Amino acid sequence: MAHLQEVTIAPETIDRFAALIVEERVTGAKAVAERLSQRLEGRVVWNVNSTARGGGVAEMLPSLLAYVRGAGIDCRWLVMEGTPDFFRVTKRVHHALHGSVGEGMPLDEAARAIYDQVSQDNAIELQALVRPRDVVILHDPQTAGLIPHMMRAGAIVVWRCHVGQDDPDEESDRGWAFLAPYLENVPATVFSREAYIPACCDRGRSVIIPPSIDPFSAKNQDMDEATVRAILVHTGLVEGPPGEGSPTFLHRDGTPGRVDRQADVIRHGRAPSWNTPLVVQVSRWDWLKDPAGVMEGFAQKVEETAASGAELVLAGPNVTAVADDPEGATVLNEVSALWRGLPQNDRDKIHLALLPMADIAENAAIVNALQRHAAVVVQKSMKEGFGLTVTEAMWKARPIVASAVGGIQDQIEDGVHGLLLKEAGDLSAFGSLVGRLLEDRAYAEQIGQNARKRALESYLGVRHLLQYAELIERLDG
Ligand code: UDP
Repeated sequence: MAHLQEVTIAPETIDRFAALIVEERVTGAKAVAERLSQRLEGRVVWNVNSTARGGGVAEMLPSLLAYVRGAGIDCRWLVMEGTPDFFRVTKRVHHALHGSVGEGMPLDEAARAIYDQVSQDNAIELQALVRPRDVVILHDPQTAGLIPHMMRAGAIVVWRCHVGQDDPDEESDRGWAFLAPYLENVPATVFSREAYIPACCDRGRSVIIPPSIDPFSAKNQDMDEATVRAILVHTGLVEGPPGEGSPTFLHRDGTPGRVDRQADVIRHGRAPSWNTPLVVQVSRWDWLKDPAGVMEGFAQKVEETAASGAELVLAGPNVTAVADDPEGATVLNEVSALWRGLPQNDRDKIHLALLPMADIAENAAIVNALQRHAAVVVQKSMKEGFGLTVTEAMWKARPIVASAVGGIQDQIEDGVHGLLLKEAGDLSAFGSLVGRLLEDRAYAEQIGQNARKRALESYLGVRHLLQYAELIERLDG
């Protein structure tokens, strides 16, 4: 029997956006929310995914849902439970949708049986909660098996897929063939970009909603330099002294928080000094984020440029913590083995940081500080549905080098809001682009300012919530 976990969400008012965007956008959003609240009349909007921590979906849901709850709509978040075998299957599907074989297990009848059993176990619990005409938004491949169950329960079902790739191939076809039976009659599917709508999903029933960030979360809230320094020194990511600040932040509801835990850092020698320019990539430990390529590209190229004082921080979650990501530990082990094989001079400048995950807000505040302190943020993904880390860095006005893959191509216009790496595997070009931003600080500053403006205009939660409201109204009509 599965155990659905409910994650509690404290309500938050959308009024706070008035500090960032024009008043009419805020009042417009409030009017839409009010209309939706009246229409739903006590019905619940359920969101279901497969992890409460780690990765883009777990990042986005709490902040979006907080504003929905603040608007008087009963919106809830449930996390489904799965077995290790289930998550091996879903990770395999996830890789397939990105055109990659992952660890290569067959997506055969045995895999389907595992998937169906866990879906059914979770559906039994879900059915006890969901009433007819409730809205159920299911996120990602892990939840697709719940679609037929929820439709039978009379809910208005939306399936949202946060992953995808631009050009279908044999592997992505295999992934979609696995999911297709569950998607047959779903009233609406949501994708992050047009090119991700697969052949098995009706275009007329598909909607494009790019992800967003919450500017007030611990991850993205303003943070002065003294606090950044205090947090980075306290966690061991930067060498002391900590300066005058304290390692504090605000929770989304305004209550104070403090960074207490330290990062486990795999390094040789000392932490970077406060004045050392840092190249930073923050990601789950996943080969699609190409941590090995980032290290190699940095070691090969950046060091030989005039910007050789820079050091690299590859930061990711403490791997035991991300429930639906069973490969994380393996990838980290292999990345650290590669790191150990580097010449000592390179090892001295490359730090693998495992960020504490026990307290999500604390983890977020550390990521915030690290991204703000970065001289250059990189996201050298081989595939990317939509890079939340890219938007996070844009919001912080950081100059970025990111691969021209998937949603990143929508997020960044090359040379305007960041520099795009045309071939994700081109280590030499990667090193040159990073070197260019490290050397030409005026150019880097301009790119960072453009990025901030774009994040403000296009990637905040208000836009996201309005798109959801429109979709729900349409489906309910
Ligand atoms: N993240 C985090 N701590 C970590 C590593 C990643 O909070 O140690 C966050 C990161 O800041 C971002 C999300 O996880 O908000 C990753 O989302 P993205 O879309 O970049 O990639 P995904 O993991 O969904 O493939």
